[in-house]
Amino acid sequence: MSITLHTCEQLDAQDPLRSLRDLFELPEGRLYLDGNSLGVLPRATPARVAQAVCEEWGQDLIQSWNTAGWFELPRRVGDKIARLIGARAGEVVAADSTSINLFKVLSCALDIAAADHPARRKVVSERSNFPTDLYIAEALCRTRGLELVLLDATALEAALQDDVAVLMLTHVNYRTGAMHDMAHLTAMAQARGILTVWDLAHSAGAVPVDLHGAHADFAVGCGYKYLNGGPGAPAFVWVHPHHTDRFWQPLAGWWGHAAPFAFTPHYQPAPGITRYQCGTQPILSLTALDAGLDSVLAAEALGGMPALRRKSLALTRLCMDLVQARLGGHGLGIATPQADDDRGSQVSLTRAQGGYAIVQALIARGVIGDFRAGDGATQPDILRFGFTPLYVGYADVWHAVEQLRQVMDSGEWQDPRFAKQHAVT
Ligand SMILES: *Cc1c(COP(=O)(O)O)cnc(C)c1O
Repeated sequence: MSITLHTCEQLDAQDPLRSLRDLFELPEGRLYLDGNSLGVLPRATPARVAQAVCEEWGQDLIQSWNTAGWFELPRRVGDKIARLIGARAGEVVAADSTSINLFKVLSCALDIAAADHPARRKVVSERSNFPTDLYIAEALCRTRGLELVLLDATALEAALQDDVAVLMLTHVNYRTGAMHDMAHLTAMAQARGILTVWDLAHSAGAVPVDLHGAHADFAVGCGYKYLNGGPGAPAFVWVHPHHTDRFWQPLAGWWGHAAPFAFTPHYQPAPGITRYQCGTQPILSLTALDAGLDSVLAAEALGGMPALRRKSLALTRLCMDLVQARLGGHGLGIATPQADDDRGSQVSLTRAQGGYAIVQALIARGVIGDFRAGDGATQPDILRFGFTPLYVGYADVWHAVEQLRQVMDSGEWQDPRFAKQHAVT
């Protein structure tokens, strides 16, 4: 049976999460499928940030560190994130960026490995991991004389041998949307005494994550993607409680000190996750992230993460089915796994080339996805579409695929104006 716009509209009418859409500022005439890169603005955020600026900063000034709870804000926001990733209250802080937090946790993982298994010289990751993760790992391996081993996803398990110190992976792949089995890979690693570091940048708020259930060791993640924290929002960091107090994290700033206002000349790390803070945090950005998290946690009353996941899988399934049914003969493939257990909340289409211009032509029609370049040889271009179940509906998917069909059928993407490259893709 073929899917029609009418079917999609009926699915929207029956969608138990449909009311959540009203929590967001969705620009008129545009269809936003890039929440995997930058989540949309929650309607509550401007007033929350204005209050922090005008009242807390403007009127109460420095007293707000105490009266408005600024000092505890990284941990309060962390507690909200914990609910989405299978961590407990008090185990997560929102701070710094994903790259910086990865530097902290990978350093500590390597310290622990060096103490427990000094002969192990390898850090294993995936070749198609997000580059900043690989760069941070490369830099740490250089300074410590370790080897960074980059593999295809299918070769990871066999590489988990006695010479490996740390397995560092991103749970959901940014290019393809492929999702690792966190519990399985962590168990395989742990059976060999290997520590695991998980990047949840494309997972937190998008797919169910159970860090304790998986027995993970360390995790970091991003605040501006599915958590709707706004551009450059603080990231987060989680460390399993049995590791937190074993070593200093390397960016031993005063916010991670046991008594920051004692102003002593020597560092004394705070117990627990607090020591993973470095210096003064951006309170206005944390305030926006706090509001962003409330927009995600609003789903808790409507079935929470399981309900979000069900809808997300239905949206990505619908997109792939429509592409297959309606977009034949244009050289488009699907990089995202078909099996539900193997994909996150995005659909990535492939094309040998022309991906950039096709995405630009779609943006001109008001459908916002994004593009990741292939290498012109073995790796194809990727056209990425993120489906955030909080605010994307079934008819949206229909319209997006219909616009793509028109862009391809008409050949309008070949217009030279769509080939012009911008600084940020
Ligand atoms: C988005 C993303 C980042 C971003 O890192 P920043 O430090 O915020 O620039 C890092 N890693 C992964 C896997 C990502 O998807």
